[in-house]
Amino acid sequence: MGAKGLYFVNPLGKDKNKPTQVWTQGETESNSAWVPTIDKPNQKTTDEISMTVPAKFQTLSNGLLVKQKKHSDGTRTDTWMMDLPHAPYLMMMAAGEFSIIKDKYKSKEVSYYVEKEYAPVARKIFGLTPEMISFFSNITGVDYPWQKYSQIVVRDYVSGAMENTTATMHVGYAQQDARQLIDGNEWEDVIAHELFHMWFGDYVTTESWSNISLNESFADLSEVLWEEHKHGKDAGDGHNFEAMQNYLFSNSEKKELVRFYYPDREDMFDAVSYQKGGRILNMLRNYIGDSAFYKAMNLYLTTYKFQSAEAQELRLIFEEVTGQDLNWFWNQWFYGSGHPILDISYDYDQAKRSAKVFVRQTQSDKIFKLPVAIDVYQGGGKKRYNVWLENKADTFAFPSDTRPDLINVDGDKILLCQKSDNKTIDNYIFQYKNAGLYLDRREAIDFAVKNQKNDPKAFELLKSAINDRYQGLRLFAIQRLNIMDDSIKRSVEPILTDLAENDHSSMIRAYAILALGRYKKDTYKELFVKSTNDSSYSVAGYALLALGPIDSISALDRAKSLLSPDVKGVLSRAIDNTLYTYAGESDFDTLAAQFDRLPVGNKKFNLLQPFSNYLKKIKNTDNFRKGIDMIVSFRDSVPEEYRQEILSYFNGMILNGIATSKQKAGLTEQEEYVKSKIADKPKVPKIE
Ligand SMILES: [Zn+2]
Repeated sequence: MGAKGLYFVNPLGKDKNKPTQVWTQGETESNSAWVPTIDKPNQKTTDEISMTVPAKFQTLSNGLLVKQKKHSDGTRTDTWMMDLPHAPYLMMMAAGEFSIIKDKYKSKEVSYYVEKEYAPVARKIFGLTPEMISFFSNITGVDYPWQKYSQIVVRDYVSGAMENTTATMHVGYAQQDARQLIDGNEWEDVIAHELFHMWFGDYVTTESWSNISLNESFADLSEVLWEEHKHGKDAGDGHNFEAMQNYLFSNSEKKELVRFYYPDREDMFDAVSYQKGGRILNMLRNYIGDSAFYKAMNLYLTTYKFQSAEAQELRLIFEEVTGQDLNWFWNQWFYGSGHPILDISYDYDQAKRSAKVFVRQTQSDKIFKLPVAIDVYQGGGKKRYNVWLENKADTFAFPSDTRPDLINVDGDKILLCQKSDNKTIDNYIFQYKNAGLYLDRREAIDFAVKNQKNDPKAFELLKSAINDRYQGLRLFAIQRLNIMDDSIKRSVEPILTDLAENDHSSMIRAYAILALGRYKKDTYKELFVKSTNDSSYSVAGYALLALGPIDSISALDRAKSLLSPDVKGVLSRAIDNTLYTYAGESDFDTLAAQFDRLPVGNKKFNLLQPFSNYLKKIKNTDNFRKGIDMIVSFRDSVPEEYRQEILSYFNGMILNGIATSKQKAGLTEQEEYVKSKIADKPKVPKIE
């Protein structure tokens, strides 16, 4: 869709709110739009790029800046040299006004190109890069193979991030301000992902788009490896689980990891090539062990360096390192589709002193072969049995003097699968305390969430999980407390107030406040008002949202005083919601102008619903028409390529929603005005 290769941002400088930039996006086959090249991933080339730019601009390209020449007309020519071979889709150039922040990995330059106002926080966003380079060099056994590593953030980027060799490009979201970073750096995993491509993708490249998972599954796995290394096993496992959910909810069980037939090569960049691929590699790592896995990564990288490879070549490498035939694994996971859906149940035979596990594979049309660890916990000890699931229904029996406290199938919690596991609350309490991995605890909490209302033991487990050692699980537990239930509501109130007031983590405070907001109690007004000034956007934003229902005048007052173009994140959305929900008709001019002023983009799109709710309350027909015209003009200025997708949202959810509300209020003139606008066809630009 409109892949142009080379993009100009605000080239004539007419937009005062946007810098002038130029940048490129090569993947998949767009670089041939601006440079003569054979645009296929199995090609390799060196390159030299010269850019003549206004002297105030900085430039970036692959490799090293080897020459700069000033001209008398106020321009300068920069020449960049990439003398190591790489694939054509990895060539890049960019120019604009940037602050360049410099770091180092050994003697190599590591740099971050950001807009001036982000210079003070650039290290908070990108500063872990040298440590990541060192970590990835260690686990691959291949010291960072390129001349330098730069990262640049550009405007209006058409992708999220791109691993151009030595010069990764990031979308604007990467630039987070100091207040956003208080709630955590949302871009850290992307930074790791793109960096790992310098090995998997750039040093060794996929032979074809069919094999793109050779690039993407490793980059996806690198996020888990980095999280585990830097933030601990829970963080790595948590990230692995989220990525697995991403695949499971993508409805792609029919797609193979390596696909030779696809409607469009861009379709290969999906939850299968990325998230499913990453989970498959993580299972392989668990099956053969870290040391063999890293050795195989090293052999693959050194064997195919500066060349391309396909999935069968990766298999041969893993077979050489392990001495095992891995065709079954590759056929099932790389060339086959889907995933196992397991039903697990248990029995204990007192007379035979035997514990039994029944595992049924309930997915249709295929059976998976799965090496699985089963841990049997009994009498204070744990015994591990390594078994294979390979039938529609498998039964395993283990000797056990008494009924086990827990039988934990998939003891390393590594399987890519869906499952229903028929455990009791006592099993889960034991599992939460003794099995101990992230997913062991998460499964136990999940069971407790579903039974919190009727089972006191489940509720106690859920309550204790609020103090889990890992923040991700604390948030999971807090968000799922059933505050609609009176006795739960009473019981957790002191816990939530304590967290809201005292917890050291801003995210925990934020979600505790969000939960307390549902109590709608005047006693919390002071806490909410005070918290709207918190340095964390999440805390301040949820506090403002919580304040509205108990004191709309004071919420509106806070929203007006907090309103500023610099505000981001949850607070920004909370301010908009509060303004448009509680403001009266007298604020029409200000609020309408605020909506109308926004350029076409996400922020305006997010404001559409609050603004339309506001218009539902407007009695003055002139004002109402003005507001509707603003929405219609926004609808008609949405770029052609997105219009089809969102037209029904504008006409249905928004305009028709307003019409219905006016009809109920008996405001026929207003109702008819909106309806006349729904029928309008969007203007289609004339083609000549
Ligand atoms: Zn990637």
